[in-house]
Amino acid sequence: MTIIGVIRETAPGERRVALVPPDVGRLKGGGFEVLVETRAGAGAWHDDEAYTAAGARVASRAEVYAASDVVVCLRPPDDLEALRNGQTLVGLLAPLDDPRVPERLAAAGVTAISLDLLPRTLSRAQAMDALTSQANVAGYKAALVAADAYGGFLPMLVTAAGTTRPARVLVLGAGIAGLQAIATARRLGAVVTGYDVREAAREDIASTGASVLRLDAPAATGEGGYARSLTDEEAEQQRRALDTAVAGFDVVITAAQVPGGRSPLLVTEDALERLRPGAVVVDLGGNVAGSEPGRTVLTSRGVTVIGAPDLAAQVPEAASTAYSRNVCAVLAALIPLDPDDELHAAMLVTHQGRITHPRVAAAITEEVTS
Ligand code: NAD
Repeated sequence: MTIIGVIRETAPGERRVALVPPDVGRLKGGGFEVLVETRAGAGAWHDDEAYTAAGARVASRAEVYAASDVVVCLRPPDDLEALRNGQTLVGLLAPLDDPRVPERLAAAGVTAISLDLLPRTLSRAQAMDALTSQANVAGYKAALVAADAYGGFLPMLVTAAGTTRPARVLVLGAGIAGLQAIATARRLGAVVTGYDVREAAREDIASTGASVLRLDAPAATGEGGYARSLTDEEAEQQRRALDTAVAGFDVVITAAQVPGGRSPLLVTEDALERLRPGAVVVDLGGNVAGSEPGRTVLTSRGVTVIGAPDLAAQVPEAASTAYSRNVCAVLAALIPLDPDDELHAAMLVTHQGRITHPRVAAAITEEVTS
């Protein structure tokens, strides 16, 4: 019987767990055994007893590594060397971000399956789409983080002490995360405007009831319906238009990304200068000048800039529940592995000592030659 091992996450600030107790039974029903590292779920409020009650065995980290056929995680563990030849690792491995991870996995003979390489347009892949499930959580949290850092109310409040005007919120990049940030900020009572380079996303913004910001800048839909990178000229035109457009907003949330490309800079230093003191910028996408991942910076003008690339980890219960479902779907579909299947091949990073994913292999070759 295939043994699935769940390890405790090692990345700083990471509170999610790859499998939650309610899904243990689901895996056992599918013919798997489940082995969980002691306190693996503690950050998401799932104790060892809950895993045991659900039918898993709780063991030390060393034992989980030694006995599991498949190890599941969110982010690559910092003790990758504990994995052994022939073992499978399933997670959001981000092999394009850090080439050392696939290199080490290939060298160790580990079969690595990365959820962030999922071909999201395949309909049978929907239940495995962890990028979507985690972006949804991050977008929700972004609105809460902004509300918390903002010194005023988000809704209009009518009280004996007077009436407050609702906060004006601008969301740049209306993909999964941005749309959830828009919906959440609207539920909190803010007056929300959204912007995206894709025409389809503009329709999505309008369907939430938010206003759509239209700029004197080109729309840019590329391969597979995703955004394409703008040319230098287009990007400059967009930034100039945004520099003017952001003034007057109390909160700006940025969640713009281009698959496989660099995060576009959308809020420049000039734009930050035009925001009023007390304004709050929450940067999910790496779209803001001077923002630092994981840090809050107060500009000399009194604008709070929060660099927040990993917000899903701060809603560990909901994020783990959604991710766990994605993992169960991946295990049900990809174990046993069939490298000739289109979906399997797309997510397979390393196998039998080789880096099998062409884009990952190309990125590594590029880095070596540059
Ligand atoms: P993402 O995280 O790659 O990008 C976030 C958003 O940033 C996108 O909406 C993109 O258009 C926008 N963006 C990029 N460059 C920009 C710029 N210069 N200025 C402003 N906005 C910019 O994308 P995502 O959230 O993972 O997914 C985006 C869309 O893809 C979704 O809204 C959905 O419609 C689609 N999608 C489809 C499937 C499917 O076909 N099954 C699955 C997942 C997502």
